[in-house]
Amino acid sequence: MRKQIVAGNWKMNKTFTEAEKLISDIADALDDINTGSTGVILCPPSLYLEMATDVAYESNFEVGAQNIYPADSGAFTGEISPLMLKDLGVPYCITGHSERRKYFGESNEFLRLKVDALIKHGIRPIFCCGEVLVERETGSHFDVVKKQLEESLFHLPAVEFLQIVIAYEPVWAIGTGVNATSDQAQEMHAYIRGLIGTKYGATIAEETTILYGGSCNGTNARELFAMPDVDGGLIGGASLKADEFLRIATSF
Ligand code: PEP
Repeated sequence: MRKQIVAGNWKMNKTFTEAEKLISDIADALDDINTGSTGVILCPPSLYLEMATDVAYESNFEVGAQNIYPADSGAFTGEISPLMLKDLGVPYCITGHSERRKYFGESNEFLRLKVDALIKHGIRPIFCCGEVLVERETGSHFDVVKKQLEESLFHLPAVEFLQIVIAYEPVWAIGTGVNATSDQAQEMHAYIRGLIGTKYGATIAEETTILYGGSCNGTNARELFAMPDVDGGLIGGASLKADEFLRIATSF
């Protein structure tokens, strides 16, 4: 049975004081509410990872980073390495987010290096893929996602691919308030699972967690998560409020 996950991508939000409060509100609530078998992951800005891992140590959530540079150490001013994350005990890292692709020019080839660097240190990439609006409107969305997976992930041997969590995030749905319909999400998730099956076999395809991301909130999460190939969500804006995020985390 594959793992269901709800992960919060805080992006570049919250002061330290606000972050401490949000994490402690979520941690306190997770002591009391039942998220069943759903794993909760919080991905705060890297400055707050140490604080978050300290809280997570005694709580029912795990921590993810938002980014790394694909080297263990070196002259890469401003960057953090997967070795640093490993040392801190951070088990997940978002990779391939559309904002990194767009604003920082990250290509499929560069993301492949990031995936390798993370896997080398036992950190599980939450690998984001998804099409922009014009690609959906012109019907090339399946080809775009296929290329992203083939060029950044499908070089991995099966044992390493098992470490990957995929997040399908149609770019037109991120931060817009316009989510993919549950049918659109299911169609793409089933397609992605099919690609994994062709490459790695049915068992690994069935084991791979595929999250949906893009304007997912406490109101639409239940319908999205009810789809057979949607295994949870990567949540941006709605992860910045404890109540809303917890509503999503209990939407299975
Ligand atoms: C995201 O940025 O990963 C995301 C899903 O954002 P939002 O939920 O705000 O659309």
